[in-house]
Amino acid sequence: MKKIYFLLIIILIILGVFFLFQNNKEEEIFEDLNQDESNLLNNIDLITFKPPLDEISEREIKKTFGIYITPQNSSIQPERFTGYHTGIDFEILPEELDKDVLVYAICSGELKLKQFGSGYGGMIVQTCELDEKPITVVYGHLRLSSIINNIGDNINIGDSIGLLGNDKSSETDYERKHLHISIYNDSKINTRGYVGSQTELLNWIDPCLYICYDIN
Ligand SMILES: [Zn+2]
Repeated sequence: MKKIYFLLIIILIILGVFFLFQNNKEEEIFEDLNQDESNLLNNIDLITFKPPLDEISEREIKKTFGIYITPQNSSIQPERFTGYHTGIDFEILPEELDKDVLVYAICSGELKLKQFGSGYGGMIVQTCELDEKPITVVYGHLRLSSIINNIGDNINIGDSIGLLGNDKSSETDYERKHLHISIYNDSKINTRGYVGSQTELLNWIDPCLYICYDIN
């Protein structure tokens, strides 16, 4: 009789260990699923945005998002601007100074503005969505005559939208050849390249969170 009780206790212990192990396994699977979901969310962001230039990770960014620029401290000389930079500046590669440099749409959305802007030369504004909320994207220092799309056109992510303007010409409003790009966190158009306070800067999003890396 004692033997039977002993066997029953052994069986119960084995069953207990077995169930404990199963539970752990379920937790592991659940964690894996969560991991997959967050990977998916990261991928969605990558699909929402694409880099605006080829070889994006090779490019120097002389003016980062939010940097406070003055004519005295700027890495660009001479400098005519003062304030917190609302976007980022992608520099050209050395061999691109006299070459056509294509600019691509970083997201899908409507072309809202295409004009000459003081400080930019040729510029366009496109509306897109980020996490289902409207944003407006400014692309500055473009050659206006190279932009085939018209206001109201829908531009798809990755489509070429035009060329960078020539170095220190009216096409860039006499700035160096480079791309300024900013993301304003609203459906309203705001083309300011610099703002006077960090509070104002809160209305812009750092584009580098989305477009500073090559996607393969
Ligand atoms: Zn800039």
